[in-house]
Amino acid sequence: MYRKPYIDAYLKYNFPFDEAKAEVDFALDTLFNYTYKDFMLGKTLKDWQISKLWKVIKERVTTHKPIQQIIGMAYFCGRKFFVDDSTLVPRPETEILVKDVLEISKEIENPNILDIGTGSGCIPITLMLENKFISADSVDISLNAIEMAKKNALFHNILNNLNIFKSDLFENINKSYNIIVSNPPYIPLKDKETLQTEVKDFEPANALFTNDELGIEYYKKIIEQAENYLTENGYIAFELGINQIEAVASIFKQNNYKVINIDKDLNSIERVIIARK
Ligand code: GLN
Repeated sequence: MYRKPYIDAYLKYNFPFDEAKAEVDFALDTLFNYTYKDFMLGKTLKDWQISKLWKVIKERVTTHKPIQQIIGMAYFCGRKFFVDDSTLVPRPETEILVKDVLEISKEIENPNILDIGTGSGCIPITLMLENKFISADSVDISLNAIEMAKKNALFHNILNNLNIFKSDLFENINKSYNIIVSNPPYIPLKDKETLQTEVKDFEPANALFTNDELGIEYYKKIIEQAENYLTENGYIAFELGINQIEAVASIFKQNNYKVINIDKDLNSIERVIIARK
């Protein structure tokens, strides 16, 4: 019963039950380390915890700000990452990108990876935690995002093997990598109004939107410039938006890359594309 009043507050504001339940559990976990087991063992919340929880939930249901931003924390591949309004809340779709890049990196001795548009840093940090041979550079155009990525690298204890710095795409890059990975902005700005409030009003526009019609402008720029920053046989791995597979595959072909892997998300949308020369 402990969650019921909080879940009811979500329901009153027309949130679906499953989302309400998941978010209350998420809040209890990330705010107080409080789990279902604690509840079963009779551990109750203190008054200050109850008022903190109400404050978070009231802000969530009345403003539609993502709960991860309100609390300042999100889960990615089972680990906690700090987030704020300068970074996207990591998505489950991006976990597929990480899984596929890990698969490829197994074949490479001491893989060196570049992550373009790193945001919270969840991609390179997870890659490095899962494969100790990986080293990585991480860039973002946003200084606030870079701060957040550094905070996460420190939190996960890998600051020494990960360079995080400001760069507009390849602007400040001067070496070659075995794998270039990116989850770039891919939503055409004209589609902004179709997005949910959580995304369009609270998440960073420079992580989401493109100025072209198809949302492929950053894929095109990265593919066209990548040659100078890839080792021989190096890979490029992208997360894709809906219906972008054909356009991006054709840019790869025009630039003499072969698509070697396409992966779908749980909704059967082609979400990850990997190519090499
Ligand atoms: N997947 C995000 C969304 O649907 C978009 C992320 C991106 O543009 N790279 O809101």
